[in-house]
Amino acid sequence: MTAVELLRAPLFHTPSNPFHDDRALVCHEDGGLLIRGGRIVASGDFASVRDAHPGVAVTDWRGGFVLPGFVDTHVHFPQLRILGGLGRTLLDWLEHVALPEEARMADVAYATGTARRFVHALGAHGTTTALVFGSHFSPATAALFEAAGDAGLRVISGLVVSDRYLRPELHQAPADAHRDSTELVRRYHGRGRLLYAVTPRFALSASEPMLEICASLLAEHDGLRVQTHINESLAEIAEVPRLFPWADDYLAVYERFGLTGARTVLAHDVHPTDSELERLASGHTSIAHCPSSNAALGNGIFPLHRHIDAGVGVALGTDVGGGTGFGMLKEGLQAHLMQRVAADGLNLDPARLCYLVTKAGAEAVGLADEIGDFQPGKAADLVYVRPPADSSLAEVLSRSQSMVESLAAIFTLAGPESVREVRVAGEVVHRVLH
Ligand SMILES: [Zn+2]
Repeated sequence: MTAVELLRAPLFHTPSNPFHDDRALVCHEDGGLLIRGGRIVASGDFASVRDAHPGVAVTDWRGGFVLPGFVDTHVHFPQLRILGGLGRTLLDWLEHVALPEEARMADVAYATGTARRFVHALGAHGTTTALVFGSHFSPATAALFEAAGDAGLRVISGLVVSDRYLRPELHQAPADAHRDSTELVRRYHGRGRLLYAVTPRFALSASEPMLEICASLLAEHDGLRVQTHINESLAEIAEVPRLFPWADDYLAVYERFGLTGARTVLAHDVHPTDSELERLASGHTSIAHCPSSNAALGNGIFPLHRHIDAGVGVALGTDVGGGTGFGMLKEGLQAHLMQRVAADGLNLDPARLCYLVTKAGAEAVGLADEIGDFQPGKAADLVYVRPPADSSLAEVLSRSQSMVESLAAIFTLAGPESVREVRVAGEVVHRVLH
C-alpha cells in the first residue's frame, strides 16, 4: 500500500440519506480520492484535490467507477453451498435444505473450507463489511473469523445459538452456548477488523433461558452487536404466540430480553405491525431487507414505504443461501424491482440504491463513523468497478449521458466480473488482473 495516493476516477457516494435529502448522491465525473495511511484525506473533483495536494502519486482509474465498499447486513456463511434451492417455503427450506448443511459444519475441515470460500466470495463481489451468521458450532465460527481476519475484511459474526425446533445436533444447552460464545468474544471481538454479534437463530429456536443467555453476553462485554430474524414468513409468525404466549407480537420477544436497540440488526421484517414499526424506530433497531430471499422463499414484498415513513433504519442483505448470491449490486436491483411491483412501492433511484448498499449498512451495524462514504477521516473502503470491454455494461456505459445514468446501469448489469479491485482501509483485499 502506498502511504499517500490520489485515485483518479469517476466517484459516487451518499454522505447523507437520499430518503430525506434529494441531493444526497455526490458524483464527481473526474473525481479524486486522496488516501493517506488507509484513510480518506479528501474527495472531490480531481483537479481541486490535486491542486490542494500537489506532488502526490496519482493512480489513474478512469474508465471505471469508484464506490464505497458494500455492506451486507445479513448473510449466512454455512449456506454458501446451498444457494439455488428454489421453490420451497421458509420452514420447509430450513428443514430440508439449510439445516442439513448447517449440521455439516460440525466437520471442522469442511467448515474451514466453506469459510475461506465464503470470505473470498464477499470480497470478489465488492463487499468490504458483512454482518454474518456464523455456525451453530464454535470451531466453525472460529474458522470464519480466522478467514475474515486473514482476508482483511470487516466481519461481524457470532456463534448461532438455539436449543429447540431445529435438529438435535444443532441444539445446545444455554450454559454451553454462554461458555462457547464467551470464548469466541474473548478471541475475536475487536481483533483487527472483527467484531462479535450475539446471534440467536430466531425466536422459534431459542427458549427463554437461551434468550437470557444472549442478554447476559451483552451485559458482560462492551460493543457487541445483535443479529437475528423477525417477521419473515406468515407460517413462522404464527408459531410465536404458541411459544411465547405473553408476547403481543414478534418484536416483543426480543424486547423482553433487551435484544433490540441501536446495536441490533433484525433480518426481513416482511410482515410487521404498525406498533412494531414504531418501536423499531424509537429504539433505533435496524432492519436488514433481503429482497431476493423474500422472493425466492415466497415470503412476500417488503413494506419499505411503511418502514421509511415510520423512521426505521433499513439496509440490504443478500441472505445467502435463502437469497440468490453475494452481489450487493444485484440485491439493490432486486430491491428496486420488488418496489416497482409493490402496491405502495418506493422508487429506488440510483441515489437510494447507492445509499442502501453502503452508508445504510454502515449505520445499521454501528460503523457509520468509520465507513460508508468518502468523507475525510473515514477508512478507505472502496470498490473499483470497471466492466470487461466486451460486456453489455461497457456498451451501455459508452453511451451514458450522465453519472446517474451510469450508476443505474451499474446496478442493473454489474456482476463480479466488473469488480476489479476492492480495498479495506486502503489495503487491497481483492484484485483482478487483466
Ligand atoms: Zn437469514
